[in-house]
Amino acid sequence: MTNKLGNLALDTWVEGDGEGTLLTSAVDGEPVARITSDGLDFGDLLRYARQTGGASLRKLTFHQRGEMLKELAKYLMEHKKELYALSTATGATRGDSWVDIDGGISTLFVFSSKGRREMPNDHVYLDGPPEHLSRNGTFVGQHIYTPKLGAAVHINAFNFPCWGMLEKLAPTLLAGVPAIVKPASSTAYLTELMVRRIHASGILPDGALQLVCGGVGDLFDHLNCQDTIAFTGSKNTAEFLQQHPRVMSESVAFTAETDSLNSSILGPDALPGTPEFDLYIKEVTREMTSKAGQKCTAIRRIIAPAPIAGEVAAALAKSLGEVRIGNPASKDVDMGALASQGQRDEVRDRVNELSHQASIVYGGNDDFDVIDADAGKGAFFMPTLLHCEKPLTASAVHSVEAFGPVSTILPYSNLDEAIELSRLGEGSLAGSIVTNDDNVARELILGTAAYHGRMIVINRDCAAESTGHGSPLPHLVHGGPGRAGGGEEMGGIRGVKHYMQRTAIQGSPQTLTAIGRRWIRGAQQNDPGVHPFRKTFEQLSIGDTVVTDAREVTLEDIQHFAEFTGDTFYAHTDEEAAAKNPFFDGRVAHGYLIVSFAAGLFVDPDFGPVLANYGVDDLRFAQPVNYGDTLRVRLCCKQKTLRAGTGYGEVRWDAEVTNQDEEIVAQYDVLTMVATDEQWASVQ
Ligand code: NAP
Repeated sequence: MTNKLGNLALDTWVEGDGEGTLLTSAVDGEPVARITSDGLDFGDLLRYARQTGGASLRKLTFHQRGEMLKELAKYLMEHKKELYALSTATGATRGDSWVDIDGGISTLFVFSSKGRREMPNDHVYLDGPPEHLSRNGTFVGQHIYTPKLGAAVHINAFNFPCWGMLEKLAPTLLAGVPAIVKPASSTAYLTELMVRRIHASGILPDGALQLVCGGVGDLFDHLNCQDTIAFTGSKNTAEFLQQHPRVMSESVAFTAETDSLNSSILGPDALPGTPEFDLYIKEVTREMTSKAGQKCTAIRRIIAPAPIAGEVAAALAKSLGEVRIGNPASKDVDMGALASQGQRDEVRDRVNELSHQASIVYGGNDDFDVIDADAGKGAFFMPTLLHCEKPLTASAVHSVEAFGPVSTILPYSNLDEAIELSRLGEGSLAGSIVTNDDNVARELILGTAAYHGRMIVINRDCAAESTGHGSPLPHLVHGGPGRAGGGEEMGGIRGVKHYMQRTAIQGSPQTLTAIGRRWIRGAQQNDPGVHPFRKTFEQLSIGDTVVTDAREVTLEDIQHFAEFTGDTFYAHTDEEAAAKNPFFDGRVAHGYLIVSFAAGLFVDPDFGPVLANYGVDDLRFAQPVNYGDTLRVRLCCKQKTLRAGTGYGEVRWDAEVTNQDEEIVAQYDVLTMVATDEQWASVQ
């Protein structure tokens, strides 16, 4: 009998009860595996995730979790070959598999690097600056994020068995939350193989990842407010699951990525013969045929200027006619099969529905050549282009999603109409505009952005490097309003926050400094006994402070600085003109002179553990410095971020420059790299 897929429960591979459902190859209909999760104790899975997986992940800092993701990505890169081989059975060409497998692994890399660059080497993520809530500064507020104490349940669609899992898993693990992954049944064999490799690698702590191949049984009955659900699939299933009594009563966070009638607008300037017209034809063809159109972000609605709609149809028909369909394992094939025969029948039904309101201008029949495969056995479908004459009054073209290589041309007569047509999709994951007129681009974006999660404007300047209409990127948000589910994933660190709880913490500056490990004005400042630049990364404490001597700023200083730097702006060089400026009484010191003098005051010049100043953040000049004023600096160690394995850590210093009246004239964060004990000992 065909093998049953494994379920990874409590870090053990177990087969579900019974024979399960047979899964067949999209290419030749041959059996691939059987699938069942019957008999799993879903309550146990959740408990194990929370108690074992969550507890271990939360011990790691964001940076350690980021390192873990990188290790995992590197490991999976070494096991790509067998994943690619199996991916063919899902109907995917090599290019499709690249998006799914390499795209998924690169998502791990991106989150790894973002986690280590943009998050602290700590367990608490601070959300914005402190809020000062009291007159004397003894009571402040700070928003923080900490990991949710439950499990993340990931329910994925069939079209991207690897990427679909990894784009959710990366931010989840970075947040410090364990995941229970349920792939869509029809292509679960590929997800299972990847999870087998992940598990064998031993890189993730126990309980961090479990896999359910089959139904989710009574899993939802055990959810609580610390758990999250991230769902990708159809709108109907999302609505059904969102209404689960436990989801509602426990307010379980639910993110949905669902169907989307994505549109692409061709600008009125992009006439035949322009580079934009050609780019549009190329983009639509690619979106219709890559992954055989089974992409939630694919272009379903082609919004084109009415006068050239016929030319768009002809050019697309020609370009689609060049697409070679067949066995995705063959090098000569551009488009493989749909994921299953059932999926093909479903797409055929949807095209029938659409054809009541739009005429088929290309495809839509079973009479096409299939390379190196038996058309009767595989789930092949001909790319199909429709044309709707009156799209403003038609409804199906804006609501029926044929999840395959199918798209409809919708002509518009002016930009307002193009905007209205785009909005009729009632919320999309992705939208595109192809125009070389930036005014058109702005008008269309302002008119349609609220209906989209992501939008791309393509023209001759960016096309060669563009990532394309349909590619979600880990750096940018993926999700969309309305029909697209109202959810949001990825978008860099934004995506990590979905798995954490934001809490507003109030208290004294000292307490909040201790909680967030970032010094807050009003918290203790310690005299470290020696200049803090003499201390190594480990020796430094948050709050270590140096208060400098005072230095007078003379007119000669200002003049010298102006000549030396070439910054002879009138406010520093022309007494009369400066006095006419509403902010100044006369010539004032350059802001950069203040910063330079401040550095001259606070540095400890001798060779020491401070390796470099790599920038300043949040620099503000609070008030003018006139000649004759006297400056003094207070420099306080604000935040420490160890860069594990590099021999140094980043130290952020709070710099406050005051004048003789103790008024603040400049404020900023100085960013330095400071050697660790080991590194410092090795160079002395
Ligand atoms: P689907 O039928 O809604 O299935 C999606 C997932 O939900 C599958 O894992 C499915 O598992 C699971 N599921 C179905 N019923 C369930 C239930 N009662 N309890 C728990 N899980 C349940 O969607 P599909 O047909 O597989 O996927 C195609 C659709 O997904 C298209 O409409 C497409 O637009 C959308 N999609 C959206 C995105 C996005 O990012 N927005 C991405 C890809 C696809 P089984 O397979 O085991 O039934």
